[in-house]
Amino acid sequence: MQNLWKYRKLELITWIVFGLLVSTSLFILYKSYNDYNELINSINYIRNGYEYKIMMGVSSIILILSLFIVYIKRDYFFLKSKDNTEALEKLLEDIKLSSDANKIKQFKSILKRKNHTEIYQLIANMINELQESKKLANEANRTKSLFLSNMSHEIRTPLNGIVGFTKLLKSTKLDTEQRNFVETIRKSSEDLIGIVNDILDISKLENGKMEVEKSYFNIFSEFENMIESYSQETLKKNINFSIWIEPKLSSQLFLGDASKIRQILRNLISNAIKFTPENGDIRVSIIETKRRDDVTVVKFIVKDSGIGISQEDKERVFDAFTQVDNSSIRKYNGTGLGLTIATSLVRLLGGKLELESKLGFGTTLSFSLELKQQFITKEINYETMKIATYAPLDVQKKASNRDLKNYLKSFKDIEIIEFNSFVECQDAKLHSFDGLYIHYNNIDKKELQRITARHSSDSQIVLITKLNNRENILDIAPIFSQIVYEPITFSKIEKSIEIISANKNDTIKQSLNMFHGLKALVVEDNPVNLKMIVKTLEKLGIKSDEAKDGREALEMYIRDSRYDIIFMDIQMPIMNGVDATKAILKYEKQKKLTHTPIVAVTTNALKGDRERYLEIGMDEYIAKPIDLNKFITVLKQFYTTKQGSQSEDRDLKKDILLYKQTPTESKIIGSILNKLGYSVDIAKNIDEFKSMIDNNKYKSLLLDKLDNEIKHTNISNKIKDRDIPSLLFIDKKDKIIPNDNNIYTHILDKTSDFISIKDKVDSMMKF
Ligand code: ATP
Ligand code: MG
Repeated sequence: MQNLWKYRKLELITWIVFGLLVSTSLFILYKSYNDYNELINSINYIRNGYEYKIMMGVSSIILILSLFIVYIKRDYFFLKSKDNTEALEKLLEDIKLSSDANKIKQFKSILKRKNHTEIYQLIANMINELQESKKLANEANRTKSLFLSNMSHEIRTPLNGIVGFTKLLKSTKLDTEQRNFVETIRKSSEDLIGIVNDILDISKLENGKMEVEKSYFNIFSEFENMIESYSQETLKKNINFSIWIEPKLSSQLFLGDASKIRQILRNLISNAIKFTPENGDIRVSIIETKRRDDVTVVKFIVKDSGIGISQEDKERVFDAFTQVDNSSIRKYNGTGLGLTIATSLVRLLGGKLELESKLGFGTTLSFSLELKQQFITKEINYETMKIATYAPLDVQKKASNRDLKNYLKSFKDIEIIEFNSFVECQDAKLHSFDGLYIHYNNIDKKELQRITARHSSDSQIVLITKLNNRENILDIAPIFSQIVYEPITFSKIEKSIEIISANKNDTIKQSLNMFHGLKALVVEDNPVNLKMIVKTLEKLGIKSDEAKDGREALEMYIRDSRYDIIFMDIQMPIMNGVDATKAILKYEKQKKLTHTPIVAVTTNALKGDRERYLEIGMDEYIAKPIDLNKFITVLKQFYTTKQGSQSEDRDLKKDILLYKQTPTESKIIGSILNKLGYSVDIAKNIDEFKSMIDNNKYKSLLLDKLDNEIKHTNISNKIKDRDIPSLLFIDKKDKIIPNDNNIYTHILDKTSDFISIKDKVDSMMKF
């Protein structure tokens, strides 16, 4: 304010002086024309009046002109000079920071002299110098990026060799110590590849060399498996890992760069896992937020309950090589490149990476992409069905259990029944549903066996549980028609629904001959019942010996104990079922025989009967009347359904037929699959592959995609006709042909690591 007044005062004075000058000059001019005599008189040394007149006129005009110029340039003369000096002083301050001491000295002295020409010259020089050095810096930067990308490429090649051969080495016979060393090499070299890849990406992004490669893709086939592959890591930290991909996205194909989206998600998910302590939660969701005409806005969200990021650090985390925890003993490893790459990639795809976080409460990173969409008609083969769900209380609260129900709800024509307690589920009316999903975290074998004992002859029962229960449930696995491991995904549920539908009303037909080759001993005093049981077992391919009472049974068992199963009536003359069982068990113990399962077949269907029989050493219990389904259910508990057919197939069917374009890869993959216990045939070329499918039976096929489209379609159709589970390896740059999704069970990148190949092969071999 004071300053302003100072300027105003100066301005006022200047105006007054200026006004005086103008009026004086006008006055002189006027006088020089009209009243010059008077002037002549008053100035007596001027003799020649005419000369005077001219002189006066010219000088007045000069005066007026110069005043006019002063007026026009008034800003420059009066106000700006002050401003300019101040602005230059400020400029000097700025320059102090960036220029050298000599320049500053020079600048100061010029400033003192107020020589504007020199000042401007100096500034111009400085600007030139700056431009020059900027050019140099840019060049240096480009050289750096080029160097980085060349180096990364060069380093990557030998590293891939190390990783590949370490995997191979791991599958050979090693002692524990060696195995640990190899594991460390594998982990370190994989980490190193990760870092090298990150650096390569950063340099590409900085150079603007990263290109967006758009093609139509299916969200589920592109992202679901990839996200699921993190479940092993989350399992190690006992993290609740759930995946929600909105089912309606399955009927759309999107135009975009799926591999870049995958890369972003990988960065976000691995951060989430890294920064979430044990027992936390991580949820990856892909949802549709908007849809108009041919564009859908798809939002990708990775949410964790981890350590979170403070308000101050939120900006920093996006910078390259920056981690919140920079202390020398860092708890979390990494280079601090992940988020930088993710941010740039999201930007490249036309979105913005959003961060929401609260220190100590977790982090959510998300981005939305506007993607051009095309609708597709999806073929899912299932009938109208009733599906029931049951989960104990602890699981009911889990996100994954909500996902299960929401995934189920997305199927048209499927009615859902929810049981909220074990009793409700156990006592539910028979035949009231076609499929039952039971979702257990803590396996309670008794409960599971009771549910299956009651419902499995009428409905198919699917067990959903955590992957780390796999070992624990091996013994009861056969009593379920399917087992689905968490994380629950739409595709898994869709597949399981298809299986339930296909098996619906077909259980018996399928079971016929299912237990082919087993031998049973049937103990029953009632001849009608005896015949019925024997006939029923015959239908399943089981041959039986018959005993009229417990004593005869015991004698027969002592004579020939090679029975696979014994069906024992309880109330019988001479020796009842309970005593006969006890005697058989005693004999088994004496002779150290492997135990033959004994199943009670009785009319005593009272509560507690089952427990009583199990207590004395019987293995299962069937309530009369005799029903084929009941026998199937019980038999499944002791003998896997494929028992018979597997032993027959073993000689005929090889496990895997493999075709890779390079023989070295064939050898590596073939030998690792061998080590995993699979029998593998390797085809040298695609024609051999074709003839081998024609002439042999394989349980699954692994092959590289052929470069020639026609040949590829040709072989694909052949595989489709055979309907053999198959895995197709494609090049990173290859687009997935939509039809391939229907033909191949799995499609993998050729550079996929062996763990994912193994998982896929394992899942195909389960069919
Ligand atoms: P890199 O990804 O290169 O292996 P990094 O994971 O440490 O290393 P970024 O992914 O760039 O690096 O993340 C930068 C920093 O941001 C992390 O070090 C961490 O401090 C913070 N951060 C990122 N994601 C999360 C998260 N989900 N929860 C808490 N902090 C996070
Ligand atoms: Mg990271």
